[in-house]
Amino acid sequence: MRKALNPETKKQVVARVNYYREMGIHDFYRQPLPESTGGGLSEQGPQADDVVASGRSVTLFDSPLPVIEDRPAALKAIRADIGDCTRCRLHKGRKNIVFGVGNVNADLMFVGEGPGADEDEQGEPFVGRAGQLLNNMIAAMGLKRGDVYIANVVKCRPPQNRTPEKDECDTCSPFLMRQIEVIRPKVIVALGAVAAKNLLAMNDSMASLRGRWYDFKGARLAVTYHPAYLLRDPRQKKEAWKDLQMVMKYLGLKAKAGAPSGQ
Ligand code: SF4
Repeated sequence: MRKALNPETKKQVVARVNYYREMGIHDFYRQPLPESTGGGLSEQGPQADDVVASGRSVTLFDSPLPVIEDRPAALKAIRADIGDCTRCRLHKGRKNIVFGVGNVNADLMFVGEGPGADEDEQGEPFVGRAGQLLNNMIAAMGLKRGDVYIANVVKCRPPQNRTPEKDECDTCSPFLMRQIEVIRPKVIVALGAVAAKNLLAMNDSMASLRGRWYDFKGARLAVTYHPAYLLRDPRQKKEAWKDLQMVMKYLGLKAKAGAPSGQ
C-alpha cells in the first residue's frame, strides 16, 4: 500500500509542480520505483527522478531550481501561454507581440522597457535606431547580437511610445520572469529605469541604481541607460560604457578593438 507523504515532502512537491506549471509544463508521470521503496515517494523526502515532467528532460529535487534542458520548448510554451494576449490595455494598439530574441543559452540577457514602432512592425525587440545602438554596444563588448538574449518588460507597444503604466508592467512581467528562468543568464543588464525598477522592485533614481551588482534569480543584474536615452543624450555613452565594462569584467569578455568609440 502506498504511504501518505509527510507534510514537508508534500509541500516540496506542490511547490515544484507549481514551478513547472509556471514554466508551461503541465504533464507529469511517476517513474516506477523499486518495490523496496513501496512504489511511491520516499519517506525521507522526494529523491531526484521521483517525478519527471513528461516530454521534457527535467529532474526534480536535486537543485534549488530545476534546470530546463529543452529551453526552446520551454520558451515556446511561454509564448503559447501569451497567445493573442488581451490581458492589459496595450493589446489595443499593437500590431505584433514582441516576445524576445536571441541565444537561448546566453550568458548575457538585456531587458528593455517595451517595443517601439519598428519593433511592433517587425515583432522583434530592439530593431530600430535604439536597436542599432544596442547592437553596437554588444559588438563593443566583443559579442554578437546572436550571442545574447533580448526581451522587454512589456511585449506590446505602448501608444505613442509612452512609458508603460505600472499595472501594464505588472500584468506582462510574469512572462519575462519565466523567460529569465528558462534562459538562466549569468548576467542581466536592465536597460533604463523602467526595466530596472520593474525587475528590482525599487524606485530609486538611475544615478543610484547604476554602478553596482544586484542578485536576481541566481543571476547578477546590472543597470545601465536605455539606448534610446543615449541617442537623446550621447554624453551619457561614456557612463553606459562603464556599466558594460563591469559586466565584461565579470563575464571575462574582451572589448572589441577601438571600443568604446565603436558605440
Ligand atoms: S503587454 Fe503583455 S500583458 Fe499586455 S496585452 Fe501585451 S502581451 Fe498581454
